[in-house]
Amino acid sequence: MTPGRVYLVGAGPGDVELLTLKAVRAIGCADVILIDDLVNRAVLQLARADARVLNVGKRGGCRSTPQAFIERQMVRLARSGKTIARLKGGDPFVFGRGGEELLTLQAAGIQAEAISGITAGIGVPAALGIPVTHRGLSRGVTLITGHTRDGSEPDWDALVRSRTTLVIYMGVAGLETIVRRLLAAGLAHTTPAAAIQNGTLAHQRNVVTTLADLPDAVEAAALGSPAVVVIGEVARMARPQAAALRQVA
Ligand code: SAH
Repeated sequence: MTPGRVYLVGAGPGDVELLTLKAVRAIGCADVILIDDLVNRAVLQLARADARVLNVGKRGGCRSTPQAFIERQMVRLARSGKTIARLKGGDPFVFGRGGEELLTLQAAGIQAEAISGITAGIGVPAALGIPVTHRGLSRGVTLITGHTRDGSEPDWDALVRSRTTLVIYMGVAGLETIVRRLLAAGLAHTTPAAAIQNGTLAHQRNVVTTLADLPDAVEAAALGSPAVVVIGEVARMARPQAAALRQVA
């Protein structure tokens, strides 16, 4: 039997219309779809009617499907000749473990292809009109995670010195510590900061304030996961967007 193929598909931050054409095609041709929690279920309307859908969510603190199990499933299904679309939120290679899955599949001799998606750290600020780089305001952008398996922390001094926009994924739970560290490393209290939950979706919510006030503002607004935090001068450009082109999902 001809072995199947696996597409590691970035499904973008939420709004179905932010899928790439390649993602749409991969979803439409798959025999089996493995879908993460963060992926908008509306994308399944693009799947074949006879496609098998497996939910393999792994949200922090919730019931989860072990990574090794997901990888074994993909190998087994591909060996039985199936075409698989492995759907991940955002981009598969940005805090998405897509690299690990690609290596496992390659080691098992399975044809695998990554399909890039719009990562939340760029697409979600954009939904508020925040450009993560902007001439004169930000010389670059650094994507970081607020949560690591071993609890290790980044070099806060180096981050502050970089003078780039900081975009923090998975940062809401540890926000107080993150802000304390950045202030201690010398970032100004008044640095503009935003937190955006469920970005690009109809139920998107956000706060825009200063670095020092961000933890209280996030708590007062009861913002939770999934959210991205944007810290830097560009956050002052946040505006409600005209929603004419936004699909209600
Ligand atoms: N691979 C994904 C990131 C997975 S890590 C990507 O490239 O976007 C999960 C984190 O992504 C969440 O904790 C949150 O920080 C962020 N995230 C994903 N979707 C989001 C959304 N619609 N709004 C805000 N943050 C989101």
